[in-house]
Amino acid sequence: MSSGPIQLRASGVTKTFSLGKVEVPALGGVDMAVAAGEVVLLMGPSGSGKTTLISILGCILAPTAGSVAVMGRETAALPEAELAKVRLAHIGFIFQGYNLFPTLFAEENVRVSLDLRGVTGRDAVERSRAALAAVGLADKFRVLPRDLSGGQKQRVAIARALVAEPEILLADEPTAALDSETGKSVIGLLRNLAVTHGRSVVIVTHDARIAEFADRVIRIEDGRIAGPSQGTL
Ligand code: ADP
Ligand code: MG
Repeated sequence: MSSGPIQLRASGVTKTFSLGKVEVPALGGVDMAVAAGEVVLLMGPSGSGKTTLISILGCILAPTAGSVAVMGRETAALPEAELAKVRLAHIGFIFQGYNLFPTLFAEENVRVSLDLRGVTGRDAVERSRAALAAVGLADKFRVLPRDLSGGQKQRVAIARALVAEPEILLADEPTAALDSETGKSVIGLLRNLAVTHGRSVVIVTHDARIAEFADRVIRIEDGRIAGPSQGTL
C-alpha cells in the first residue's frame, strides 16, 4: 500500500520545550516518511512525544531542529502566514475531543472547514452533505453535536477533516473517547476513505486493536523511533 509518492516527510525532527530555565527534551531526531495511500500508526507510552511529533508534522508546532516537507515543500523557513496556507491546502486534523462547535448543526460543523478555505454558498452545502453521507451520517445533517453519540461525533470530525480533500490526514488519539468496537469502525472508515483517495494518514493511538488497519506501525519511545517498524520506506 506504500507505493505512492511521499507526501509527508520528517527529517531529523528535534524538539526541546523551554520551561523557564528547564529544558524538556520531547523529540530527539525523528526521520519518517508517509506515502500517498498509506496509513501509519504512531504508538508509544504516554509522554513519549507522539502529540509533539504529530503537531510538528502538521505544521502547528515548529521543531527546534530538523525539518518537515509537505507535498515536497520544505516548511522550516516559511513564515507563519505561508505555513497557514500549507496547512489549509494540504492537511486535515482530527482530534481526540472532536472539537465540534456545540451550537452548530453537523453540516455547519463540516462547512466551517470549507469556509476557512473560501468555499461558500450552495457548493459548500452540497460538499458538506456529501462528506457527511460518506461517513454514514446522511440522516444527521441538521442535528447538534449534543444529540450525536461519541462515534457519530467523531465521524462528523472525520467528514470535516476530509471535506476539503487534503492529501494528508493527521489524527491524535481519535478513538480515545470511544468504546473499542466504535473505535475500530471509525478507524476502518477513515482508512477506506483515505486509501481510496490516495491520502497519507498518520494516527496516534494507544489502541493496539487498531494496528490491523495500519500499513506500518512506528513506535516512539523517549522521543525517538524505536525498532522494529514494518515496511520502512
Ligand atoms: P505523548 O503525546 O506521547 O503523550 P507529548 O508529545 O505530549 O507526549 O509530550 C512529550 C514530552 O514533552 C513530555 O515530557 C511532555 O511533558 C513534554 N511537553 C509536551 N508539550 C509541552 C509543552 N507545551 N511545554 C512543555 N513540555 C511539553
Ligand atoms: Mg499525546
